[in-house]
Amino acid sequence: MKFLIVQGDITKQTADAMVNAANTSLLGGGGVDGAIHRAAGPELLRECRTLRGCETGKAKITKGYRLPAKYVIHTPGPVWRDGKSGEPELLESCYRSCLALAEEYRCRTVALPSISTGVYRFPPELAARIAVRTILEFLGRSTAVETVTMVCFDPETKAAYDRALAAALQ
Ligand code: ADP
Repeated sequence: MKFLIVQGDITKQTADAMVNAANTSLLGGGGVDGAIHRAAGPELLRECRTLRGCETGKAKITKGYRLPAKYVIHTPGPVWRDGKSGEPELLESCYRSCLALAEEYRCRTVALPSISTGVYRFPPELAARIAVRTILEFLGRSTAVETVTMVCFDPETKAAYDRALAAALQ
C-alpha cells in the first residue's frame, strides 16, 4: 500500500479512479469540479444528469471519458459552517464512500483532491487530518486499492497534508 501527497492538477493525474469534489446536484461547478468536467468533455455531464444528484458525504461513480482515469467518483463535501454541524463526520464519510466505491470497482490507483477546502471553506489543517486518518485506515484493509495519491493544487494545501501525514505516522 502506498499513500502519496503531490502538488498539481488532478485532471493530469493518471489513475483508475479520480475523485471529484462535486456539489449535490452533480451537474458541475467551479474549482476542481469545473476542471474535471472541462477535461472529461460533455459526455461526463450527460452521464451525471442520469444520477439525480448525490447527498453530502455520499459518492456516485461514472466513467472517466477523456480524463486519464477509467472512473470518476463524485462526492459532495460538507460546506463549513461552525464545525458543530457534523462537518468533520461528513468529510470523513466522503473519503470512506469514495474509497468503498473504488474498492467495489477493483481500482488499484485512486487520485483524490482536497475535498471541501476550497469554496466550501473547511479549515485545511483539520480537513487534512481527517483525510489522512481515513485514507490510512482504508489502505490498511483494502484488497484492491494499492496506491492513493492526494493531489493538492497549491503548496499551502500540500504542506497541510504533509504535516498531517507526519503526525499520523508518529
Ligand atoms: P469544495 O467546493 O469541495 O471546497 P473546490 O474545488 O472549491 O471544492 O476546492 C477543493 C480543493 O481543490 C481546493 O484545495 C482547490 O484549490 C483544489 N483544486 C481546484 N482545482 C483543482 C485541480 N484542477 N486539481 C486539484 N485540486 C484542485
